[in-house]
Amino acid sequence: MESQPVRASTRLDSYVDRYAARTAGMTASEIRALFAVASRPEVVSLAGGMPNISGLPLDVVGGVISELVATQGPVAMQYGSGQGVPELREQICEVMRLEGIEAHPDDVVVTVGSQQAVDLVTRIFCDPGDVVICEAPSYVGALGVFKAYQCGVVHAEMDADGLVPEALQQAITATKAAGKTIKFLYTIPNFHNPAGVTLSAARRHEVLEICRREDILVLEDNPYGLLGFSHEPMRALRADEAEGVIYLGSFSKTFAPGFRVGWALAPHAVREKLVLAQESATLCPPQFSQMAVSAYLSGHDWQGQIKQFREMYRERRDAMVEALDDLMPASCRWNVPDGGFYVWLTLPPGIDAKAMLPRAVTARVAYVPGTAFFADGFGSSSMRLSFCYPTPERIREGVRRLAGVLEAEMELRATFGAGAPASGLEARSGYDAPSSDLT
Ligand code: PMP
Repeated sequence: MESQPVRASTRLDSYVDRYAARTAGMTASEIRALFAVASRPEVVSLAGGMPNISGLPLDVVGGVISELVATQGPVAMQYGSGQGVPELREQICEVMRLEGIEAHPDDVVVTVGSQQAVDLVTRIFCDPGDVVICEAPSYVGALGVFKAYQCGVVHAEMDADGLVPEALQQAITATKAAGKTIKFLYTIPNFHNPAGVTLSAARRHEVLEICRREDILVLEDNPYGLLGFSHEPMRALRADEAEGVIYLGSFSKTFAPGFRVGWALAPHAVREKLVLAQESATLCPPQFSQMAVSAYLSGHDWQGQIKQFREMYRERRDAMVEALDDLMPASCRWNVPDGGFYVWLTLPPGIDAKAMLPRAVTARVAYVPGTAFFADGFGSSSMRLSFCYPTPERIREGVRRLAGVLEAEMELRATFGAGAPASGLEARSGYDAPSSDLT
C-alpha cells in the first residue's frame, strides 16, 4: 500500500492563491485571539463597545414583538423594499430632527447597522488606491472596510475639540500633491470612537468650509450623538450642508444592536446608487427588524429610554474617570468624555500597549491597544478603555488591575529596558473573538 503524502499542516489555507486581491486587506488583527480569552467572565473587559442592554425594558420589547407577529406577521416576515420600510424612514427623520437635520424620508436608506452603510458608501465611491481621510485615531470597523476595498487611509490629527481643521487641510493638500484621489472625509463628530472627543461647534463650520472648498464629500458617522451627558445634542454637520454630506445613524446604541438597523441619509442621486448597492448586497434590509424598531418607536417613550441610557453611561464614565484619577500612575494621560462609551488613555513614554496586553489579560483585565485604530501602525502608546458595559464596581476593579499591570510594566522597563522578557501568554489563532471587540 502506498503511503499518503504528509501535509505540513492541515490548517494551512489551500485556497490562498485563489482569493481576490482585495482579500489581502481582510486580515484578523493579531490581538483578536487574545480577546477570545478576554471574554471569559473572570476578565474585566474594558475592550468591547457593547451597549448595555440591561438598561432596556425587555418586557416592553417582548410585547412589541409579539404584537408585531400577531398583527402584521405575514408582512414582517416577507421580503421588503431595498430602501427600507417607509414608516421607519419617516421616524428616522424625526430622530435626526433632534440634531437639526431637516430631511425627506425619500433620501433615507435603511441599512444593516450603520456598519453596512459605511460598506455601501465605500463600495459606490472607492476604487482601489483611492484615499479616505480619517481622524487619527479612527473607528476600527470603518478602517477594516476601507482596507477591504483597497483604499488608502490618510489620518488627520485630533485634539480635545475633535478634528483639527489645519491638520485636515494639510492632509488634503499633501494627498492631492501626491497625485492621489480623495473620495471622502470619514468623521465621527460626537463622542468619538475611540478618542472620546467631540468636534466643537466652531470647528464644524471650518471642517465643512474646507470640504466645500476642496470639493470633498463628508461621511458623517454618528452613532453616539444622542448619548451626551451634559448638553443637548450638537447640530449635525448634515444640518448645515445637505449636498456635500452623507450622514449615518444607528439604533444600536439608542435601542439595541441585535436588530441591526442603521441608516444613511444621502443626497438624492447618491441615495439611488445606495439602494442599488443595498439590493445587490442583501436584496433588502431585514423587514422584521425594521418593523420591530418602528413599532418600538411609535409605541414607547424612546426619548425617555435614551435619557435612561445616558444616565447609566454617565454613571459608568464617572466610575472610570474616578478610578483612573485614584489609581493610575501620574505619568498617564486620559480625556474625560462628555458622552458615548470611550476613554482614550496615553501611557508613559516607552510603554507599548500592545506588548502589555498579554500581561493585562493574565491579570484579568482587557483593553484595545491604540494601534488597532490607526491604518499606519501609530498608536502604540495609547489604549481605548470602554466604560459602557461593566458595572461601576467592575470598572473600578478593572482599572485597579490595569494600574497594577502598568506599574509592573514600568518597573520591568526600568530594569531591563527594551529587552524586557516577553509575556508567557501567546495569542492563539483560530479562536473566535466576539464582534463587540471590533466596535
Ligand atoms: N460607527 C461607529 C463609530 C461605531 O462605533 C460603530 C459600532 N460601535 C458603528 C459605526 C457600527 O454600528 P452599527 O452597525 O451597530 O450601527
